[in-house]
Amino acid sequence: MDDQAVRLRAVTKTFGRKSARVTALDRVDLDFRAGTFTAVMGPSGSGKSTLLQCAAGLDRPDSGTVRVAGHELTGLSETRLARLRRDRIGFVFQAFNLLPTLTAEQNVALPLRLAGRRPGSGPVRQALAQVGLEGRERHRPGELSGGQQQRVAIARALVSGPPVLFADEPTGALDSATGRGVLELLRTLAGRTTIVMVTHDPVAAGFADRAVFLVDGRPLSELPSPTQASVAERMTRLTVPAC
Ligand code: ADP
Ligand code: MG
Repeated sequence: MDDQAVRLRAVTKTFGRKSARVTALDRVDLDFRAGTFTAVMGPSGSGKSTLLQCAAGLDRPDSGTVRVAGHELTGLSETRLARLRRDRIGFVFQAFNLLPTLTAEQNVALPLRLAGRRPGSGPVRQALAQVGLEGRERHRPGELSGGQQQRVAIARALVSGPPVLFADEPTGALDSATGRGVLELLRTLAGRTTIVMVTHDPVAAGFADRAVFLVDGRPLSELPSPTQASVAERMTRLTVPAC
């Protein structure tokens, strides 16, 4: 059994051509151990979102390999990649991305329905209970607070029981108190689930087991057991220009 839930090797991703060419990821080697909670940090444009998209099979690297829960993503057909994403990978976005006309329950059931399954209420209710939303099953997103909407999105990401959950700035659209509640929830999910979270907030990184700092598309350094203070201090040093 692979101890690493996610493994990137020499992952390179570029955008644009010729003079407009941007290297978003530059031969990235990174491992995320099963059951751990990692914060991926770095300045704007350092490649955090691209890293997450490539690791989650939402985008394809130009070169290098990505392995998730023992499955090599590189070279998979779109169909097989989509199936792997559906069964093994959860993804949470900053902007919740819920369907406004569907209830919480229907939003959470959607990935199962799209997979051609007829979800009983069991797994859906269980996912909503896991994020602390029992009693809100019939509410539509507009009837829920931002924090509750993000919890619905997390329940939707968890409904198929994926071993890995990726989250790109999951608290970026929330006020700090609400964001803290979502981070506490992610903390309780770690262990059962491997969590990889992009954030630029030292408070958020303080909830993780490890912080990885990206600069110019490369992991430059790491902090084990990050705290708000140690992360903030590391970030100020990263932005000091090298001489
Ligand atoms: P971060 O999430 O750290 O802010 P991104 O991964 O979004 O950084 O972007 C890394 C670099 O790649 C940036 O220079 C960005 O402009 C560029 N980039 C990202 N996505 C695209 C795209 N779809 N087309 C062109 N350039 C992109
Ligand atoms: Mg980003």
